[in-house]
Amino acid sequence: MFDFWRRALFFPLIFLLLSLLVWATAGALPATLFFSMFLLIHLVLHLHQLEALDYWLADSDERMVPDGPGLWGEVFTRLNRMVRQYRKEHEQRVAALQHMEQATSALPEGVAILDEAYRIEWCNPLAEQHFGLDSKRDIGQQITYLARQPEFVQYLAMHDFSEPLVLCGARQDGLTLSIKLIPYGDNKLLLISRDITHLERIETMRRDFVANVSHELRTPLTVVNGFVETLHDMPNLENSMARRALHLMGEQTQRMERLVDDLLTLSKLEDTLNVLQEETVEVSGLLRALHQEGQSLSAGKHTLRLELASSCALLGNADELRSAFGNLISNAIRYTPQGGEILVSWHEQGDRPVFSVQDSGIGIAPQHIPRLTERFYRVDRSRSRETGGTGLGLAIVKHIASRHQARLEITSEEGKGSTFSIVFPASRRLPLQAEEAIIT
Ligand code: ADP
Repeated sequence: MFDFWRRALFFPLIFLLLSLLVWATAGALPATLFFSMFLLIHLVLHLHQLEALDYWLADSDERMVPDGPGLWGEVFTRLNRMVRQYRKEHEQRVAALQHMEQATSALPEGVAILDEAYRIEWCNPLAEQHFGLDSKRDIGQQITYLARQPEFVQYLAMHDFSEPLVLCGARQDGLTLSIKLIPYGDNKLLLISRDITHLERIETMRRDFVANVSHELRTPLTVVNGFVETLHDMPNLENSMARRALHLMGEQTQRMERLVDDLLTLSKLEDTLNVLQEETVEVSGLLRALHQEGQSLSAGKHTLRLELASSCALLGNADELRSAFGNLISNAIRYTPQGGEILVSWHEQGDRPVFSVQDSGIGIAPQHIPRLTERFYRVDRSRSRETGGTGLGLAIVKHIASRHQARLEITSEEGKGSTFSIVFPASRRLPLQAEEAIIT
C-alpha cells in the first residue's frame, strides 16, 4: 500500500517542488500555471487509461486487456492474469459439463431433473424421446403439461415414489415405460425413464401362454375326471387294486383341476385389460358365509370364531374379495393342527378397514415370510400337497389386494401361529351400516 502511494505521488511531488522553484525565481502566477498544466496533463493521461479500461470492459470476451504505463500497466497486467485464470477455469468447467452431458446422453435410460413444481430443468436425449420433449424449447415447462397421461399426472400428484410407475402407450402406441422418481437436494427430483416395451411383450407372451395352456387343459381334465369318477362308482368293480388306482387317479386329476383353476384366476387378475369392477361389498354378510364354509372345511377340528368389530362396507369386487378372504381362511384351517383356534376378524385401524385371519397353527419361520406370495413357494411342500394346496393361493391374495390398493401383512411365529391381514385404504371404506360390534 505504501509502495503504491509512493509511486502514485512521485511525479506530483516532483512537479510540486519544481513549481516551488518557479515560484521562487519567477513569482506565484507562473508557478501556479506550471503546476496547473502538470495536473491537467496528469488527469488527461489517467482519463485515457480509464477510457481504455472502459472500452475493454464493454466486450471483455472478445478484446485484449489494454496495456499502459506505470501503475496502470501493473493493474492491467494483474487484470490480464485474472482473466486468463478465469478463462482457463471456465473452459475446464465447460469441458467437465460436456463430459457429463456426453455420459448422460450415452445412458440407456431417459434422465430429467425436475424442480419442486415438476418444471423441467434439464433432460437427456432419451428423456426427450420418451416424453416428446425438446430440451431447448421445453426447459422451464411443467412436465405434466407436456406428458399428460392421467396415470402419470396422478402418480406425481400422489407424491409416493416408492414404487416405479409403468406407463403404457406413453408417447407412441406400443411404447411402455418404467418411470422412477428420486428426490434429492433442495426439493429436486431425478426422473428416470426406461423403455420396457420388450420386457412387457415377453411378460404378456408368458401370461398368454400360461392362460392358453391352462385353458386348453381344462376340458380334457374335466373329461378324464368325469370318467375316473364314473368308473370308480361302478358297482360291479370288484378288483380292489383297480378301485384304489381309480381313487388315486381321481385325487390327482382333481389336484390338476385346482391348479388349472388357480392359474386361470391368476392370469385373469394379471390381465391389464381386466379393470376392477367395483361395487359395494357388504363384508359382514360375506364373512358370515365364509365362516360357515370354513366350519364345514374344518369339520369340527378347530374352534373357528368370527369377529365383526366394524360393520363398514367396502368399495371393491365381491368375487375377488371372496376369493382372497376364502383363501386366507382355508390356509388357516389347513395349517392349524386339530384343536387349534382360528379368529376371522373385520375391524378398522384408524380409518383403514382391515380383514384378518389369526390362527394358532404351525407358524412360519421369518426367512420364508417375504417369499410366501411367490407362485409355487411352499414352506413344507408335502403338507401343502396333502391338504390340497396349489402353492398359488397367496399369490392370488396379493394380486387381489393390490388391485384394491390394499396391503397384505403377515406376522408369524414358528410353532405358535400366524396372522394374515389385508389392510385396505381409507378411500375404499363405505359408511357404516350399523354401529354395533357382533362377536360370534
Ligand atoms: P398352498 O396352496 O401351498 O397353501 P399358498 O400360496 O396359499 O399355497 O401358501 C404358500 C405357503 O405359505 C404354504 O405352502 C405354507 O407353507 C405357507 N402358509 C400359508 N398360510 C399359512 C398359515 N396360515 N400358516 C402356516 N403357513 C402358511
